[in-house]
Amino acid sequence: MTKEMRAAVYLGPEKIEIRSVPIPEPKTGELLVKVRAATTCGTDVKTYLRGHPKFPPPFIFGHEFGGEVVQIGAGVSGFREGMRVTANVFAECGECFYCIRRQGNLCENLIYNFGALGEYMILPASIVRRTTFEIPLHIPYAHAALLEPLVAVVHGWHKLAIQPGERVAIIGAGGPIGLMHLQLALHSGAGQVISIDRNPMRLEVARDLGATSVLNAREVDTVTEVRKLTEGYGADVVIECAGQEQTWEVSMEIVRRGGRVLWFGGLTAGTKVGVDAGRVHYGEIDLLNMHGGTAKDARAAFDLIVSGAVKTRPLLTGELPLEKVELALQRMIAGQAVKMVIHPDS
Ligand SMILES: [Zn+2]
Ligand SMILES: [Zn+2]
Repeated sequence: MTKEMRAAVYLGPEKIEIRSVPIPEPKTGELLVKVRAATTCGTDVKTYLRGHPKFPPPFIFGHEFGGEVVQIGAGVSGFREGMRVTANVFAECGECFYCIRRQGNLCENLIYNFGALGEYMILPASIVRRTTFEIPLHIPYAHAALLEPLVAVVHGWHKLAIQPGERVAIIGAGGPIGLMHLQLALHSGAGQVISIDRNPMRLEVARDLGATSVLNAREVDTVTEVRKLTEGYGADVVIECAGQEQTWEVSMEIVRRGGRVLWFGGLTAGTKVGVDAGRVHYGEIDLLNMHGGTAKDARAAFDLIVSGAVKTRPLLTGELPLEKVELALQRMIAGQAVKMVIHPDS
């Protein structure tokens, strides 16, 4: 008889049920992992509210995790039972048009990894080969779970190539993504990091992590304040992490001539954003875009967690058991948490 496990199964918008489902068997190249900690993220919130564009329900929710290898599929090397691991949410194929051009994040055959909110989960073969990492003992499972969002942040960080002394403004700075960008900007030697958000609790976290100025967009005019803080020029680098049309437009107004804007926060396909062509062209503003990250970014992100260059603890602002996963998501939606930790094995 197959053994069963508990899992948070997504059934459709705002509907998650804790169910008993069979524990999957690892096939060739796969690993079966006992999930020791999972974390909730912005993508989970979007999926919870609206569904996932690529995956129809039902499926086991969650994708950020740290866990322990309990069973190894045929042909897997480099892993052993009991090994502590984390993995990115996807891996590239390594062979398609984009992968050959070292743009694996745009891979035509990306393999995804869902199911972190179950007692056990399968890691698909290409993820095991390319984006699964052994967690050293000094890193708690929940901290390693932050690998996936950091992979995307690192991808954007590589594109921005922030130089020592540069002034960086981050919009949507108090969310997990903004707080990671903040830390990497400081790591690059940014002279000033202006964190902009609408949530005072999250802005406090940004201040604790080293933001030189925090601006509450509900209380002040962001454009005026950023100009004041930059002698009227605007920031060298603007990172938009809020994913709103309005903040995409604000990002264009607070960047200096000759500066760079990274639109990290995605908008729904079909959305039109107003851009002043004169300002972009004659002002030589570089507009950078991105989605996800490559296997190489994943390795770099993992190393940043292990070395402590990116602090993960301040991003984890609550803990709940598997049964309370919907409450965890509600707390995220209400802006009462940066990230919540769930322990499916408790
Ligand atoms: Zn995530
Ligand atoms: Zn590919």
